[in-house]
Amino acid sequence: MADAYDVIIVGTGAGGGTLAHTLAPSGKRILLLERGDFLPRELANWDPGPVFVGGRYISPDTWYDSDGKPFQPQVHYYVGGATKMYGAALYRLRPADFGEIQHADGVSPAWPLGYDDFEPWYTRAEWLYQVHGAHGEDPTEGHWSRDYPWPAVTHEPRIQQLSDDLAAAGYRPFHAPCGILLDEARRPASTCIRCATCDGYPCLVHAKSDAETIAVRPLLGLPNVTLLTGAEVTRLETDPAGRSVTGVVVSRGGAREVYQGHLVVVAAGAANTAKILLASATGEHPDGLANGSGQVGRNYMFHNSKAVIALAAERNETVFQKTLGLNDFYFAGEGRQWPLGNIQLLGKSNAMAMKGEEPQLTRLAPRWSLAETARHGVDIWLTTEDVPKPGNRVTLDGDGNIRLAYRQTNRAESDGLYQELRTLLNHVGLADHHVLGKNFYASMDVPIAGVAHQAGTCRFGTDPASSVLDVTCKAHELDNLYVTDASFFPSIGAVNPALTVMANAIRVGEHLAGRLAS
Ligand SMILES: Cc1cc2nc3c(=O)[nH]c(=O)nc-3n(C[C@H](O)[C@H](O)[C@H](O)COP(=O)(O)OP(=O)(O)OC[C@H]3O[C@@H](n4cnc5c(N)ncnc54)[C@H](O)[C@@H]3O)c2cc1C
Repeated sequence: MADAYDVIIVGTGAGGGTLAHTLAPSGKRILLLERGDFLPRELANWDPGPVFVGGRYISPDTWYDSDGKPFQPQVHYYVGGATKMYGAALYRLRPADFGEIQHADGVSPAWPLGYDDFEPWYTRAEWLYQVHGAHGEDPTEGHWSRDYPWPAVTHEPRIQQLSDDLAAAGYRPFHAPCGILLDEARRPASTCIRCATCDGYPCLVHAKSDAETIAVRPLLGLPNVTLLTGAEVTRLETDPAGRSVTGVVVSRGGAREVYQGHLVVVAAGAANTAKILLASATGEHPDGLANGSGQVGRNYMFHNSKAVIALAAERNETVFQKTLGLNDFYFAGEGRQWPLGNIQLLGKSNAMAMKGEEPQLTRLAPRWSLAETARHGVDIWLTTEDVPKPGNRVTLDGDGNIRLAYRQTNRAESDGLYQELRTLLNHVGLADHHVLGKNFYASMDVPIAGVAHQAGTCRFGTDPASSVLDVTCKAHELDNLYVTDASFFPSIGAVNPALTVMANAIRVGEHLAGRLAS
């Protein structure tokens, strides 16, 4: 491999972009292969019409369900990956999430590492991604070795009132962790203008802490980092023994190209990483690369989520609404048989976004009535853990397309969380009978298409018979293949996944820097 790169990274999202940022200071030659392009900065970035109704930034990919029925997954192929559209709610998993948890529909398995192992990497990720928050408010969180780099984003008046009402009713609301480039003390110096378009939109002014803005863009001038966009990795080639990846096959501009790297890291997102490995079957790896365990593609998870708009008589003039979270129902106990999950606020709805989110429901509603509804509503996101099931899996059909078999888990817990929410709303002046379903990025009318929080498919573990990756996220069966996207999750918890992907990428990045140095 005379002309080989030191590291090839496939994908530039939370896992791949953060890894590149960690490795770049080593001076080693890094090649980033990204199938998408840079997301264009244009007024449409902030326009709910093109974003929600037109689906402007969703890939035209077609995937198939277990019956072979086609659907369009809500995936975003850009430099920065899904984080270009994410809400930047950057939560740590709870310490208990790293252990085994019994759920209504099965067991959430223990991770091979604990919260204490991840804590330093969470701190690094919070500082890299400029997270605002207030440790100590949420009674379910784990210990922290360093404060957030920024104080919590202040609640706007309606949300402060909601927080006060919740506290008065005995709940324990907290300031949600947000990754935005905002300096509230010196507002003119901020990039962030605290607008309503963080969640589900790209940020036109690059003030959201996404993987492009924070991790990839700062590397672009470096002599040791090369980024190729429009470069879709289709297959990995191996040596005859099947122990090393010797070639990364790319389709770019209609041509086939092959790149060599001493280390190869796949971070193409949980479904596409499985696709690449399954498509790389050889004589030594007949069921797909690194798949002697049969686990590649299995245990796909994506959270059991509900989004609702709770209406009140009074207006909600909040612009940046994502500042509040509640974990009172996260664990079992206190009369609850099962853990239920997390409640947090979403980006503020407007009439056009509601049309895009609920095209059927809002078909006949005049725009003014939707606008009035949105003006009085508080948008809420409920997340329940989805437990890993071997049958929830990515496979490839005869043409090499992704086939996703998926059955939602923990419906009873999700319904329980919704009931808790309705009770809670009655305590805070948001009547429980004025709750509308809201279909936001989970696309719950096509549950399988809502792949925003996709995870699993290549879990890490100590036993090569039941996991794909070892604890350093190296494939058990190969010497130079790593995976650093959300595929490595053995379980997903009930908080947003991106900070854990970023923290793990930094952890693995430091390991790889050490390996390359020696
Ligand atoms: C609308 C939306 C809102 C969200 N909000 C939040 C939130 O508030 N908080 C949170 O924690 N999480 C949120 N998420 C989820 C979060 O963005 C993901 O968990 C995270 O980005 C996953 O990181 P990843 O590295 O696994 O995948 P990605 O970040 O998606 O990166 C995968 C990359 O690989 C590229 N790629 C794919 N296939 C190939 C190929 N064959 N060759 C080359 N490149 C390839 C993709 O283009 C992409 O750049 C949200 C997601 C969406 C869509």
